Amino acid sequence: MADDCIFCKIARGEIPSNKVYEDDEFFAFRDINPVAPSHVLIIPRRHITHITDATPEDEGLLGRMLLMANETARREGLVQKGFRYVINCGEEAGQLVPHIHMHLIGGRELGWPPG
Ligand code: 5GP
Ligand code: ZN
Repeated sequence: MADDCIFCKIARGEIPSNKVYEDDEFFAFRDINPVAPSHVLIIPRRHITHITDATPEDEGLLGRMLLMANETARREGLVQKGFRYVINCGEEAGQLVPHIHMHLIGGRELGWPPG
């Protein structure tokens, strides 16, 4: 937990969000600036700044985060047509919020390579 982190505050309910899912470990909410019809952000409640800061202790957490994201993709109705997960890390990738988050993006055709 980081007191001044916007995503920690969202996970604690101190900043309102359009919640998609929550449990003891994770929080999922709609991106405020969606880039596709379905754009959900999936975060662990535990504050980890960059994905590269994860340690072997986070192995279980990262695995459960992917499984939870899969469940969210199913509920969003994205599995049949396809979708994308994105984890931006650092400046050149455009990571704006320093608390790890997975983007779940879908509901339209997605170009490749990414911008
Ligand atoms: P990044 O570029 O760090 O991978 O993505 C951060 C994402 O968080 C962006 O897509 C941005 O629109 C979203 N975001 C930033 N602040 C807020 C907020 O206060 N509420 C919500 N719902 N999304 C936010
Ligand atoms: Zn945080």
